[in-house]
Amino acid sequence: MKVGFIGLGIMGKPMVKNLLKAGYEVTVYDIIKENVALMVQAGADEKKSAREVAGLSDIIITMLPNSPQVKEVVMGKDGVLEGAREGSILVDMSSIAPLVSQEVHRACAAKGVKMIDAPVSGGEPKAVDGSLSIMVGGEKEVFNEVYDLLMVMGGSAVHCGKIGAGNTTKLANQVIVALNIAAVSEAFMLSTKAGVDPMKVFDAIKGGLAGSTVMNAKVPMITSGNFKPGFKIDLHIKDLNNALDTGHGVGAPLPLTASVMEMLQTLHADGCGQEDHSAIVKYYEKIAETCIRMGKEEE
Ligand code: NAD
Repeated sequence: MKVGFIGLGIMGKPMVKNLLKAGYEVTVYDIIKENVALMVQAGADEKKSAREVAGLSDIIITMLPNSPQVKEVVMGKDGVLEGAREGSILVDMSSIAPLVSQEVHRACAAKGVKMIDAPVSGGEPKAVDGSLSIMVGGEKEVFNEVYDLLMVMGGSAVHCGKIGAGNTTKLANQVIVALNIAAVSEAFMLSTKAGVDPMKVFDAIKGGLAGSTVMNAKVPMITSGNFKPGFKIDLHIKDLNNALDTGHGVGAPLPLTASVMEMLQTLHADGCGQEDHSAIVKYYEKIAETCIRMGKEEE
């Protein structure tokens, strides 16, 4: 089976490597040449456009930043739908707005191309070890057709409902992750200001009710001051924007999400947009004028 892969960033690269390792023939495209070169080194075939990739592939996977890039790559000039064969399947694994998934699905259907939305959770480490959590929207039969392929990249793949349901599930995930990092940052600032070492707090509570996968992944980054992404602040702004828009559209109030959005916007304005979202702690460090990492007053 021939697989096309478009979008070779932090997530796309290790996902392609796992497909190659599993024996799939993979053809790739990205606008960043260095990313393409790395995948060619790993054994992928390179094409010059999304159209060319689609023309060669039974299944086309996209792993792009947001809705506008997915629309451009699929529906735009030299895009997937200019090259894709009837009966081929588009698996969009990007995290985008559910309404845009539905719009892209309609454009695909008009050309006889099947599509599911299949965003992921787990970040770069789980992309590397092939254990991503994959949440899928679309026809169940199409999900069944691509299930084995998804399980090369994921530890689980759950069919959540009709097209867009994968991205709605991902928005719920992103709300929980953002609020969890903010809660950890707020609580650790409390302990730091009160004179208790945050690492001791972490050791004491990680096995209790407050423990979480987010806490385990992000506390080491927070306490060591390592904000190399991971998952960028700017991408999380994109996800919370999509969550707030969707919430407003369906009548679901998201007051905590709106608060954390303002923290992320402050960090973006401070030049931290390309840092890992664990840098939410810097917002608290700024307003409390205290550095959690060292338990000292910030210079
Ligand atoms: P990234 O910015 O590292 O990679 C995106 C890639 O898409 C880049 O290589 C970029 O050059 C490419 N691209 C952009 N526009 C393009 C175009 N028009 N044509 C071809 N290529 C194009 O982002 P990422 O961290 O890999 O995230 C990708 C998606 O996965 C996002 O929707 C993100 O929200 C989601 N996601 C990321 C993580 C994470 O931890 N990084 C976790 C889960 C989900």
